Amino acid sequence: MLKELREIVQQVTASSDLNGAMNELVRQTRHAMQVDCCSIYLRQEPEQNYLLAATDGLAAKAVGHVRIPLGEGIVGLIGEKEELINLADAQQHPKFKYLPEAREDAFKSFLGAPIIHQRKTLGVLVVQQRQVRLFEEGEESFLVTLASQLATVIAHAEAKGNLRSPNWHGMLRGLAGSPGVAIGRAWVWRPRVELSQVKERKADDAVVQHERLDKVLVQVEDELNGMALRFKESQASESVAVFEVYQYILKDPVFIGLIREQIERGWIAGSAVKRVCEKQIAQFSVMSDPYLRERAADIRDLGQRLLTRLIHEDDGLLTLDEPIILVADEISATLIAEIPRSKLKGIVSAKGSINSHAAILARAMGIPAVMGIDHSFELLEDRTLIVDGYNGDLLVEPVPSVLREYRRLMAEEEQMDELFDTVRNESSVTLDGVSVSLLLNAGLSADSDIAMNDTADGVGLFRTEIPFMMRDRFPSEQEQVISYRRVMSSYVGKPVCMRTLDVGGDKQLPYFPIVEENPFLGWRGIRLTLDHPEIFLVQLKAMLRASQGLDNLSIMLPMVTSLDEIRVARRMLDRAWREVSAETADQQGIIRYPSLGVMIEVPALLYQLQDMAPLVDFWSVGTNDLTQYLLAVDRNNGRVADIYDALHPAVLRALQQIIDAARHYAKPVSICGELAGDPIGVLVLLAMGYRRFSMNNSNLMRVKYIVRQSRCDELQKLLQEALNHRHTGVFKGLFGRYLEQRGLGGLLRGGR
Ligand code: PEP
Ligand code: MG
Repeated sequence: MLKELREIVQQVTASSDLNGAMNELVRQTRHAMQVDCCSIYLRQEPEQNYLLAATDGLAAKAVGHVRIPLGEGIVGLIGEKEELINLADAQQHPKFKYLPEAREDAFKSFLGAPIIHQRKTLGVLVVQQRQVRLFEEGEESFLVTLASQLATVIAHAEAKGNLRSPNWHGMLRGLAGSPGVAIGRAWVWRPRVELSQVKERKADDAVVQHERLDKVLVQVEDELNGMALRFKESQASESVAVFEVYQYILKDPVFIGLIREQIERGWIAGSAVKRVCEKQIAQFSVMSDPYLRERAADIRDLGQRLLTRLIHEDDGLLTLDEPIILVADEISATLIAEIPRSKLKGIVSAKGSINSHAAILARAMGIPAVMGIDHSFELLEDRTLIVDGYNGDLLVEPVPSVLREYRRLMAEEEQMDELFDTVRNESSVTLDGVSVSLLLNAGLSADSDIAMNDTADGVGLFRTEIPFMMRDRFPSEQEQVISYRRVMSSYVGKPVCMRTLDVGGDKQLPYFPIVEENPFLGWRGIRLTLDHPEIFLVQLKAMLRASQGLDNLSIMLPMVTSLDEIRVARRMLDRAWREVSAETADQQGIIRYPSLGVMIEVPALLYQLQDMAPLVDFWSVGTNDLTQYLLAVDRNNGRVADIYDALHPAVLRALQQIIDAARHYAKPVSICGELAGDPIGVLVLLAMGYRRFSMNNSNLMRVKYIVRQSRCDELQKLLQEALNHRHTGVFKGLFGRYLEQRGLGGLLRGGR
């Protein structure tokens, strides 16, 4: 039977059409189990019944018609009890319900298994036989295995919207990625077409092909102009140079002439672009001059932009004349950079979870986002959506009353923001006089979220990955100096904490792919940079040079696991500082040696706090990764998102342990994970004794407002009370009430 089971499972899971998969399953199962009948009943939520969805053995015309109300009949009983039922003679069972349309009179023995996906009953799988007999254990496990496989197929079809009509409207459940509400039209982003994906084709309409090429040349030029402008506005002028090179190639008569020549030879426009680009890439790639070698990457990117336009001819970012809700399989920083901020109302993403970097980026930019929506995105194109970033819901074509309700919520939001803004120029002091530092997390967004923040007490975490991700190669030392100096000079007299490169995990460099089974446990952060001293040293030197005369730099190491990593990094910093100082000494410029800290985000450090204290100048707790690694829950995986909880007692104990050790060893400590910007999180952290918090721009004012409404002595009492209860949820309850009592219940929307 094992062979048959495997075959059925393979066929069912490979099928893209649910009805086809179910029909195949009932047919093959009847045959494999040598029974007289096999049927599938699907649970219908609104109708509160089980619908006969497929059968081999019952009357075919009963499919789609026979309905058994929930809790009725043996099928209903299986659904209710969520367990298998094996009956020698079903007709003798008190729950037996006769279904005349199905013509099941002849069947006596009955074996049924619930179809359950993620704790939810989706239906019941049944086999029946004329003979009176109990089914054997092997048959029971056969059916249970099939039911579990079928559950995945049904859940997937349901999630993808394959069970819905194209003009379906309703709600899809995802994960709350970034708070807020956005209402607008869906704009589905199509992934960039790769050169290698294009199949070469000929056609005999050269005139049409020239016209198509003309059209996309203009579109791509506009696209590049728009991007260059946005980078100029955000003062990332070094990135503008990349677009200028593209513009140059795009206008190069030789390059365009070669494409036209291919069209004249009968190739369609896309094939012509591919042929010319691939040839040029091959030529540039073997050149000895590194500058010219890099042009290969430029040609590839440009070629792919042209191809994308040619293949999705009707799409066009720059034709966006109204703000949109961006819908994409995966959101990246570079994708967001391609859309003007004023045109971006909300974000919907299939991949990612609450603390994936895409969600953090959306929060930093104050854009409501819902992650983990598994649905056919084509069915969403151009439809009106409400992104409910508090609850993680996506509403498709909402009815007017729902729209009204959400508009009211948005108005309330605005009022709250106005209220928070009243403390912009006030100090961050609690009602009982405890002063706290509120710093900024920056760097994830290509936009400058730096300059506008004169209210922050400095930068607590500058993620340096973006300048590396926005290019087709590692940025040069000088390019990095410009980018870091821009940040440091925006904060004269205030501390700026730069984190060394933390790629790996969910942040990949397009030109340095890392293929790993388990990227969050792999080659990430300091592990990678210590293996590449040439990259690490250049970055350290760039930070040091950028700090000259400003003297506000501190450097922080991500993903540290062992003390040796700190020792090696310290030696590299010494060397970088010596070399940079020697070079600048003749210009009488002195570069101050920066303080060096570590991020506490790998749990191993919790057990090395004492030994680590003398090696570094400060600690900063990365609660995003600390939670991920302590709870063994992937911060990117929507399936386990409800287990990811930065207020889990284990995480809170770790945080208490860190602050106690920091006091004991007189080590400055801050929190730079998302918990610092969370209304409840910041209260719990204040109660523990933390006084330095680094957070996204969009959280800064509301956290300041909360701080100014709180008393540390009251919070400490609440913490003691919560610790005595010893169960999850108590922190949210007690501290949530504290917020409500101060008229801040609105901040608890959604799960909090
Ligand atoms: C963290 O892990 O908490 C953190 C601040 O770093 P990142 O989110 O960039 O991994
Ligand atoms: Mg981290």
